[in-house]
Amino acid sequence: MCGIVGFTGSEQAAPILLDGLKRLEYRGYDSAGIAVTNDNQINTIKASGQLVNLINKASDSDVSGLCGIGHTRWATHGAPTDTNAHPHISNDRMFAVVHNGIIENYAELRDELIEKGYHFDSETDTEVVVHLLEYYYKGNMRKALIKTVSKLEGSYALGVICSDFPDEIYTAKLGSPLIIGVGVGENFFASDATALISHTKNVIYLEDGEISRITPDKVEVFDCTSATINKTVSRIVWNIESAEKGGYEHFMLKEIMEQPKALESTIKPNIRDGKVNFDGLNDLKSNIKDFTKIVITACGSAYHAGCVGRYVIEELCRLPVQTELASELRYRNPIIDEHTLLIAISQSGETADTIAAMKECKNRGATVLSIVNVVGSTISKLSDFVIYTWAGPEIAVATTKGYITQIAILDMLALWFADNLNLIDEKLYTDLISDIHTLPERVQRALDLNPHITSLAKKCSSNNSIFFIGRNIDYAVCMEGSLKLKEISYIQSESYAAGELKHGTIALIDDSSLVVAASCQEQLFDKMMSNIKEVKTRGANVLAVALEHNSRIYKEADNVLVVPSTNPLLVAIPEIVPLQLFSYYIAKERGCDIDKPKNLAKSVTVE
Ligand code: GLU
Repeated sequence: MCGIVGFTGSEQAAPILLDGLKRLEYRGYDSAGIAVTNDNQINTIKASGQLVNLINKASDSDVSGLCGIGHTRWATHGAPTDTNAHPHISNDRMFAVVHNGIIENYAELRDELIEKGYHFDSETDTEVVVHLLEYYYKGNMRKALIKTVSKLEGSYALGVICSDFPDEIYTAKLGSPLIIGVGVGENFFASDATALISHTKNVIYLEDGEISRITPDKVEVFDCTSATINKTVSRIVWNIESAEKGGYEHFMLKEIMEQPKALESTIKPNIRDGKVNFDGLNDLKSNIKDFTKIVITACGSAYHAGCVGRYVIEELCRLPVQTELASELRYRNPIIDEHTLLIAISQSGETADTIAAMKECKNRGATVLSIVNVVGSTISKLSDFVIYTWAGPEIAVATTKGYITQIAILDMLALWFADNLNLIDEKLYTDLISDIHTLPERVQRALDLNPHITSLAKKCSSNNSIFFIGRNIDYAVCMEGSLKLKEISYIQSESYAAGELKHGTIALIDDSSLVVAASCQEQLFDKMMSNIKEVKTRGANVLAVALEHNSRIYKEADNVLVVPSTNPLLVAIPEIVPLQLFSYYIAKERGCDIDKPKNLAKSVTVE
């Protein structure tokens, strides 16, 4: 995700585009650029880094013209450099393109275009679009665009200008947001209403598969056969703030709701023909048998994702897996050698402690595989192998979709190892693959299944201390559930392996305690029931987290958060969802600044 914007009218385009980009910057901010048509010529300016770099560059350049497109990038393919920044220009300089999304078949298209003699400047997936336009253009822009998009697989919101039509913009959309702003003698497009709302509140929502031609006086929308579609103009009723959050009150809630999509984007590219297929790991296959252990290192929620991964990898691969807090590992004289595979996990890819732990382990001979959400980040560059999560930018400080997509990668990685080590039978492999495919649906169901969370959160919001207990993967989920609550609601909370409670901490349990009992591991359910009884005997109120068909839980628990039935190895993904919502609504009830909790920062780049 990132932001695109376009303007055509009777004012200078550049300041309007830059202002629109500023409002969209939250969507992606590693580089930006604009392209403006003037006298049948297209001029571009691009700058890596924050938008201010582009604004400074623009003030020293001549980008006059009344029609243009702009982009603020959140790199997926190719590092965030000036060259990789959008807009991309065709070889004949007649076309400029901005793009949100990912062109999944760009590699094949790129090869075909190179064979046809086109020259590529950038490493982006996007650049194929502009060369396809040049290739298909025979004087009719609409036809060229229809042909071009018919070749694209993946997701896109595209803004295109052509020097033959200096006051026209074309757009196309599939899977990425794009709206058209309708003004008087001027028209716009953008990724969301934030960029338009200061100019017009009248908008047309473009649907997937539709393309548009925008001139200062007219907006026309067509389908892929070139037939005209009559669109209605809607009126935006939100204020700027809520538009930025896509209508949600907080980025955190928006990001919780985006999890099915984030999971799909993370899972889909890595499973092909019923097999986990990590393109970047081919060279790891040959020495996979040399590893005697795996060490997973990370901080915060990423560490908790690693704790889930440990159970799954050990179960499927029978390889010892250690989880290590990066801040500890870096100073511990760790027993690591060339037979160790280090898995480093970080949403931002810039976590200072994780970077230091990686360097320490690399010096001792470990092979480093990282799981990160940001292309071109320091951790991705330092690693021998990288797997990306495709969660999109996460703005709320407390991670949700970042964490859940890290677990999805770890689950797939466990299967990949087990398969390459010949340790998994075909039936289990196939079953797990189809269960992984259903995870986005299960998360959606987990979002839908618990309408009582708001009232439950209201009841629990005055608790001063909340315990989380669970066993096995449930325990790893408890760590994250408890951290989420602490981060955003400031309620003191501890997570405990359920069997460990009686070895000391149970002394704290009394009739003012709330105990969240995660009970989704069916093979350990009876053990959990005993632990629930133990805390109830001491007066605790119990909020269980249990699978939806489980009726026994209602006999012991005071309240239940329901999780859709899922393979026990994969259950962490839907299981965390009601706990995220529970923390969110408690924090809301307590009037906390949910998106920017006190003392915290999104990307921890200091020790
Ligand atoms: N995939 C494109 C790129 O990496 C667009 C990313 C975006 O949506 O910002 O350049």
